[in-house]
This record gives sequence, C-alpha cells and structure tokens, in this order.
Amino acid sequence: MAYTYDDQNIFAKILRGEIPNATVLETEHTLAFRDIQPQAPVHVLVIPKGPYVCYDHFAREASDAEIVDFTRAVGEVVKAEGLQEGGYRIISNAGEAGVQEVPHLHVHVLGGRVLGRMLQRAG
Ligand code: AMP
Repeated sequence: MAYTYDDQNIFAKILRGEIPNATVLETEHTLAFRDIQPQAPVHVLVIPKGPYVCYDHFAREASDAEIVDFTRAVGEVVKAEGLQEGGYRIISNAGEAGVQEVPHLHVHVLGGRVLGRMLQRAG
C-alpha cells in the first residue's frame, strides 16, 4: 500500500512553525516535543521532519540518515528525561487498528510512573 501524506496535519503545522510546541530536542531530521495531553509524568512525542505517515512508511522510505537521526533522538530523549533508571515505554500508533489520530509518524515516549500492562484485553 502507498501512503498519502496530508500536509495539513497538526504535526506538519508544528514543523512549519505555524503552531507552537514545547520542544525537548531538535536535530537535523527530528523534533521531540511534549504531548499536549500527557498520559504520564513524562510524555514526549518524537517525530521525523520528513513527510512520513507512520512507522512502516518511514522504515521503508526514509533515508539511512533520517532513520539514524530519529533513532538516536529517541535515545537522547530517554536519557534527557531521566527515564533509563525507572524504565519507559515507546508506542507508535498506526492507522485505524492502531487508533492513530495524527497522520504523521510519531513515537510516544512515556515514563515517570509504572505504566500498567501494555494492552487491555478486549471485552
Ligand atoms: P496518536 O493517537 O498516536 O495519533 O497520538 C496523537 C497525540 O498527539 C495525542 O497524544 C495528542 O495528545 C497529541 N497532540 C495533538 N495535538 C498536539 C499538539 N498541538 N501538541 C502536542 N501534542 C499534540
């Protein structure tokens, strides 16, 4: 399947500087900022600057430089937010089943408390 990127999504607007964000880290290819509705004491979103809809899109089509930069940025965020000792969770939602709200790849970096089990069983 070929993904179509919507450049009017809210993270594209953040990248263009059209709406503000609470930046944690910025590199050549990556931006990390605080989630506007945090679900844990630490809740940072890490996004590539390039137009990728979701993780597999990025993993298949991004350049090696973008992938290395993004991966290193996630590591730097974990370290900068002090999550190594207590642990953390990384989540990337995709599409309908993943209940993705914003169609620009982002990983959620969550920590600062015990986060509970990864998924709740369907009732
Ligand atoms: P997802 O469901 O994985 O697409 O998550 C989208 C996330 O983006 C949610 O956790 C929102 O709280 C967050 N979000 C939406 N708008 C903004 C914004 N302007 N700044 C920071 N985070 C946002």
